[in-house]
Amino acid sequence: MDSTHDILILGGGPGGLSTALHLVQIAPHLAPRILILEKEHYPRFKLCAGGLVADAEVILENLGLDVCEVPHVNVETAHFDFAGRGLKVRVPHKQTLRVIRRDEFDAWLAKQTEDRGIEIRQGVTLTNIRPDKEGVTVETSQGIFRAKIAVGADGSNSVTRKSILPEDPLHTARTLEVLTAAGQVGNSTSHKSLDAHFDFFPVPENIAGYVWDFPTQVNSVPIRCWGIYDSNLLPAQKRPALKDLLTKEMSNHGFALDDCEIKSHPIRWYTPQNQISVPRVLLVGDAAGADPLFGEGISMALGYGAIAAQEIAAAFQRDEFSFPSYWKRVARSGLGQTLLMRWVVARIIYSIKWRWFHILLWRIMHPVVLLAAWIFILNWSKRVK
Ligand SMILES: Cc1cc2nc3c(=O)[nH]c(=O)nc-3n(C[C@H](O)[C@H](O)[C@H](O)COP(=O)(O)OP(=O)(O)OC[C@H]3O[C@@H](n4cnc5c(N)ncnc54)[C@H](O)[C@@H]3O)c2cc1C
Repeated sequence: MDSTHDILILGGGPGGLSTALHLVQIAPHLAPRILILEKEHYPRFKLCAGGLVADAEVILENLGLDVCEVPHVNVETAHFDFAGRGLKVRVPHKQTLRVIRRDEFDAWLAKQTEDRGIEIRQGVTLTNIRPDKEGVTVETSQGIFRAKIAVGADGSNSVTRKSILPEDPLHTARTLEVLTAAGQVGNSTSHKSLDAHFDFFPVPENIAGYVWDFPTQVNSVPIRCWGIYDSNLLPAQKRPALKDLLTKEMSNHGFALDDCEIKSHPIRWYTPQNQISVPRVLLVGDAAGADPLFGEGISMALGYGAIAAQEIAAAFQRDEFSFPSYWKRVARSGLGQTLLMRWVVARIIYSIKWRWFHILLWRIMHPVVLLAAWIFILNWSKRVK
């Protein structure tokens, strides 16, 4: 049994790595007491479109990290459309969105974490976790670990969550994602090479989500990343197959879905009723809950890490590890507020299936939508400390 570390972080994606990086920033003496267990080896594949919003970059900047070191594509304009027309968002003098590949981004973040003195043990898969009064017992493919506390950062299919909260209801979105072949750029005049598109045309068909088309790159070769997101907020309704909707939309822009490899992964999203800790164990990132509106989760995972680190540092100061106020700390932060707003907005706009409502929302009410997004949805990262 390995019991040389006090803090076990289970999963080395943005949530787990951010927790470690923030802990070292606010309580450097804890660095040698942290161990991250990651089931894969970096650079490892993670299904994700890789859209990084400004809030993610603010959190990374506060850690002294520059994401420009990671290969990326800068999106000039983001389009929020209903059936091909709608709202254009362009941030002056900056990229509107940065698109990274997750194998590269996560490997870079892991290297930054190791450079700050934190050990990451790769190829170790968590199988079960048992908290008790004195600490936690963590069962893995490489044996049993014992620590004072653990952080569940193992993503949407979190084994940590299933172990500590087996009765918790599941709230997961469905996704499909494809990368087009190198050099396949389509023949669309409406989708420019450096623009990102979110189209909510599937909502009237009972899909509580949208189709996306992002510019991205693999080995510096420009390609497109297409996908469809269904938050599953309307599971009881009859719905068309996600693949059919994606095929139709891609073919409208000169792409053949059948030429691409389709991949799928759930996204566990946040609800206000979510339980995100038990004594000795905290959850971060998708294991705690991502954004139900867009399925955005990289910035959220980074934000959860900042808040969990404060909770852990305070717990070590008090020598008390029941984490009763972690949910309050999250709920009161900018992260908790944006997640709550996105949950409310998702429930409203995805349950109104009337075409004219979406035409009005995305094509006509631009100032209202932009103002509401600015106040309630974006700019939350400055309030995670
Ligand atoms: C198709 C798709 C597209 C998306 N596009 C975007 C986007 O454009 N922008 C955005 O912000 N978000 C996007 N997301 C969401 C985003 O990918 C997640 O919210 C984000 O990855 C959450 O980070 P995390 O650290 O919580 O979990 P993860 O990134 O899933 O990391 C979990 C880590 O834990 C490891 N792990 C898992 N199980 C175990 C185990 N049993 N033992 C040990 N280690 C384990 C995994 O290998 C992984 O490294 C997308 C998601 C999907 C599915």
